[in-house]
Amino acid sequence: MNTTWQILIGNLAIVALVISIWAHIYFRFRLMTDLQTKLAFGAVMGAGTMASMMMSVPLSNGVFIDLRYSLVAISALFGGAPSATLTIPLAVAFRLQMGGAGALDGMISIACVGAVSLTLRVLQKRRKARLADTFILGALVSVTLLATMLVLPAQISAMALQLVGVPAVVLNFGAIIVAGALLLQFEHMALDRDLLTAALTQTPDFQYVKNRDSVFVVVNRNVAEHHHFTSPEAMVGATDFHIATQRRAEVLFAEEQALMRSGEALINKIEPLQQGDKEHWFRTSKVPLRDRDGIVIGLAGVTRDITEERSIERELRANRNMLSHAMSGMSDGFAMYDPKGDLVYANPQYAHLFPLSGVVRVAGFNIRDILRKAVETQERRSFPAEIDEEWIETAARDLHRDKDEEIDLYDGRWLSLRTRMTADGMALVVVSDVTAMKQAEHSLRAVADRMKSLAETDGLTGIVNRRAFDEALALALARSVRERTPLSLLMIDVDRFKAYNDTYGHLAGDECLKAVTDCLRKAARRDTDIVARFGGEEFVVLMPEADEADACRVAEQFRDALHALNLPHTGSEFGRVTASAGIAVKQSRARATTPAEFMQHADEALYDAKRNGRDRISIWESPASARTANG
Ligand code: GH3
Ligand code: MG
Ligand code: MG
Repeated sequence: MNTTWQILIGNLAIVALVISIWAHIYFRFRLMTDLQTKLAFGAVMGAGTMASMMMSVPLSNGVFIDLRYSLVAISALFGGAPSATLTIPLAVAFRLQMGGAGALDGMISIACVGAVSLTLRVLQKRRKARLADTFILGALVSVTLLATMLVLPAQISAMALQLVGVPAVVLNFGAIIVAGALLLQFEHMALDRDLLTAALTQTPDFQYVKNRDSVFVVVNRNVAEHHHFTSPEAMVGATDFHIATQRRAEVLFAEEQALMRSGEALINKIEPLQQGDKEHWFRTSKVPLRDRDGIVIGLAGVTRDITEERSIERELRANRNMLSHAMSGMSDGFAMYDPKGDLVYANPQYAHLFPLSGVVRVAGFNIRDILRKAVETQERRSFPAEIDEEWIETAARDLHRDKDEEIDLYDGRWLSLRTRMTADGMALVVVSDVTAMKQAEHSLRAVADRMKSLAETDGLTGIVNRRAFDEALALALARSVRERTPLSLLMIDVDRFKAYNDTYGHLAGDECLKAVTDCLRKAARRDTDIVARFGGEEFVVLMPEADEADACRVAEQFRDALHALNLPHTGSEFGRVTASAGIAVKQSRARATTPAEFMQHADEALYDAKRNGRDRISIWESPASARTANG
């Protein structure tokens, strides 16, 4: 009995050994396909059954007791049909070769256990086996074995030897649990290892582990390929002295040794490396690795080729620098607002141009903050006196619209604002100080106005000159025809003026003309009346909407005013300065006349007044017979 137990325990060790042999084989030949793996598993398990049978307990009647059933069952549960189809025939064949009275029953038992195990496997429907499944399997195999011992004739005698048969069943059960647990543990480890391997080999980085002497212990495929090694394994044992220049290797070695001595990691070191005729940039991190006691035993490194990344980044930075350089170099203010009204970019000039709200005209503020500040400080003349949120909201929304505007500031400066929208809803604003331009424009306009009035004014009397009068006459005539209103024209000539000059001198003559002008101004008082110097000592008064009676009244008033002045004129038959007047009237409904014709009529009337003795008023009458109004 002692010997029997020893043999059975030895058998259990064989089961454990077979499983660990399988684990090694599996690690070695990781690249096998799933079917190949299952066939190999079946073969190893089959070999295991043979080993187990070689170490079996022989009974006198040719019956052998061992743990072959546990391996058959495990093979079917974990490897399915492909494994079982190898394990079962191997076990059966070996049992046949062993011979003995129980050979047939033994073979049948193997087949039964295999069938039961495969059935369990099929019931699992491809689900991965769990620990609970091994208990179920163990139970099923035990029942199967007990059943065969009860039924098969040769086995019955084994059953008779209760003390051997029952422990054999119990040990097979135990062996199944042990083998299953080992396999599950091993599968778990294999998965973890596959994950780590994948993580290490499949990243785009260069990853490696070095020992305390800076010797490569593990490298990923990228590192091996980069340094022209056939495989990552082939690079194990190499150092930087094998793959870099002496100088560089020395530098790296010193750096790594210092890192491991201090225990301080090197994070994101960026450095250029000449590779062939191209310069590559790398970013490296190295961290010290410690054992359980915290002692540094090596380092892990990650290096990434950032050449492309870097050149893109550099280009971007250059572009940005150039742009912001250009922006800050320009004299105009430039600002960019996003669709929400947030100021995302502004050059310094943008803030400088608005001295009172400049503090908020920087990136990060919203257009509403800026408007509020501008209202608060009364920076812009056209802004409301107090902050009105509704107004601010409206003004803020108005930002996102193409427009050109000119605004005047509190200090008299003028700014031009040009706003343009981009396709993605940004508002770009360019601000220029146009104060100088505005001032130039103002003074130009003033000069133009002055030039115009000079061109239209008579220098001596300050009233409208003939050129301006001609323009006014044409317009007034057209209007009177269009609107069917009357229009009157008064033409005046100072009497005996040549003699006045001769008597009192030219300067006195000028003063006299000014006096006459004053009298005319007093007489023609309507806003629309135009008093003009026609030339020499001749004057005209154009009176829109004045009929004959109105015109006569003005003429009379003028004559009275001149009489009232009573300017002495010894050269005149009247002894004082007098003037003659001719009146032409266009009635409201009269047909159109030309300015020349109209003037001609007034001139004819004036001539009539002169002819009739001077100091009098004459009205032109159609057809060509003028009558004297008074004497
Ligand atoms: P009549 O009563 O027929 O109008 O006689 P008159 O002497 O006024 O005749 P005439 O129209 O020939 O004379 C106009 C004079 O007015 C001639 C010129 O010396 C003088 N005269 C014209 N313009 C000016 C001026 O600007 N200043 C002065 N002082 N004299 C002027
Ligand atoms: Mg004259
Ligand atoms: Mg005259």
